[in-house]
Order: sequence, then structure tokens, then C-alpha cells
Amino acid sequence: MDALRFITSMIKKVMNIAKDQVVSINYTLTDVNGQVLDSSQETGPLSYLHGNDNIIPGLEKALEGKTEGATLKVSVPAAEAYGLRDEQLVINVPKSQFQDAGTVEEGMQFEAETSDGSRIVTVTKVEGDTVTIDANHPLAGMDLNFDVQVVGIRAATEEELEHGHVHDHGHHHDDEDEE
Ligand code: ZN
Repeated sequence: MDALRFITSMIKKVMNIAKDQVVSINYTLTDVNGQVLDSSQETGPLSYLHGNDNIIPGLEKALEGKTEGATLKVSVPAAEAYGLRDEQLVINVPKSQFQDAGTVEEGMQFEAETSDGSRIVTVTKVEGDTVTIDANHPLAGMDLNFDVQVVGIRAATEEELEHGHVHDHGHHHDDEDEE
């Protein structure tokens, strides 16, 4: 009979978020006091390759198995977010080690090459010729709350799987300059 007439297109399988899928989410990130630290409102949805350590582990775990349209609130303890603070990453360096040494001020961020690759460091103190820098992630040690909406799920391309990241939103790079 005509009972299913309202179905006007092919019936698609519902995708559940699983490893190697490209997932797009809208999110608002707040700290434990409810202060907004980051949000996708201005940048548009964030797309990432699920199961490839593209996002923090606590959030990735909470998204596993969810479907398009799902909304969720996720509390992520620091250890499952940007990790705990490591006080050994707070170090003193001579001012002369900075480009434009004269302009170095508390609160400024710099990129430093380390044995583990390049890191963003924050200047926490300037005293005479000594600059104290903190190489912890700015959100290290913080418990985080996410309000998330899943806005898209699709299969990854072969190239994305090979690279371990998504190629949406104008992400492009030379073959030589792969990361
Ligand atoms: Zn790539």
C-alpha cells in the first residue's frame, strides 16, 4: 500500500561515529566556572578524523558511536584533556635567546624549537635579563566542559587516512611538507 509514501529518497544507513570517519562538530568549550574558552561559533564546525588523536582523548571517547544530530555535554578531566601541568616545563632563559629581545613582555607567546619539536611557550615573568617561560599547554591542568553537536559524519578519503587528518576547509599542503 502507500503507507510509506512519505519516504522520498533512498533510505540511508545511519552512521555511527567510529574510527577513520570524518566527523564535524559544533562545540563550546567552558572551564569549571562556566567561562567560555573557545567555540566553533565564528570559525564554523570543526572537522576531525576520528580515532587518530586529532582531538583530546576525553572528547573523542564521548563521541564514539554517536550519530549525526546528536548533542552532548561532556566533562573532561584535565588528564584526558590537555594533560596535567608539568612544572619542569617552566624554565628561565636569557633574554638574548629571543628574537626582538627588547619587546619581550609577560603574557606574550612565542614558538620555541625543542627536542620534541616546536612548542608554543608563554612568557610568565621578565626580570632583568632573565625571562621565565611556561611550555605547558595553556589549558594543561584544567578540567574542561564541552557542549557538542554532531553536524556531519562521512567516510574519510584514502589520502586523509594516509595523512591521519582531514583535508576540509582549505587545508592543503605540499607533498614535501607533510606532517
Ligand atoms: Zn594532509
